[in-house]
Amino acid sequence: MRIKVLGCYGGNIPGHGMTAFLVNDTLSLDAGWVSGALSLKEQVKVKDILISHSHLDHTCTLPFLIDNNFSAPGFALRIYAIPEVIASMKNHLFNNHTWPDFTCLPNDLTPVLKLVEVEPEKPFEINGLRVRAVHVSHIVPTTGFILEDKKGALAFSSDTGPTERFWEVVNEVKNLKAVITETSFPNELQDLARISGHLTPQALDHELGKLRANVPVYLYGGKPKHLAAIKKQVGALKRRNVSFLVQGRTYKV
Ligand SMILES: [Zn+2]
Repeated sequence: MRIKVLGCYGGNIPGHGMTAFLVNDTLSLDAGWVSGALSLKEQVKVKDILISHSHLDHTCTLPFLIDNNFSAPGFALRIYAIPEVIASMKNHLFNNHTWPDFTCLPNDLTPVLKLVEVEPEKPFEINGLRVRAVHVSHIVPTTGFILEDKKGALAFSSDTGPTERFWEVVNEVKNLKAVITETSFPNELQDLARISGHLTPQALDHELGKLRANVPVYLYGGKPKHLAAIKKQVGALKRRNVSFLVQGRTYKV
């Protein structure tokens, strides 16, 4: 599978989009920077979106992606998430106050948006990919995702503090090719990372001790203000297979 990094930061300043990874041109893993990174022609090809949790840095371009393409021929979007996340999007995003409820527009029979609840750890298929949502440990209900095709698998933790089940499931994945996980804060903000359910470089080092496979680990989620400190501290871990995702770059798994 091809993964294009649309955005990979935990906040937004010029040149730094928030979390969104485009898989094989039609599926987005989170939606923090879809309409910010893709042309209208590219946006209309996006059919499916996996949402890990309700936070804005993972969802904020959904309203504009739908609004931009509402009248485009054939445009329809399916959003997949665990029930708690779907409920949050219904209640707080597509609620006819923050933004229109596109699940009944232009009409109930052929809406432009479908919200699909998925069960944690139960595989489902999107366009030839086998997908599983797996709970992680963030401040709101959150899952990572494991995506598999015939050539290999990608595990994305989404936002998380120290967690267990995700790594247990990842360690059982055959043909794991890469892991994407987060490092949001530098070590000196460990207390803030702990209460907000995020990782620092030192916490990341401990988490990676739970990963058995020797595969590339790509990092995202750094808060723009702390990027320099986070990079320096991750470098000091001297883990050769760990690197930072680069916005705009396409990775093959
Ligand atoms: Zn979050």
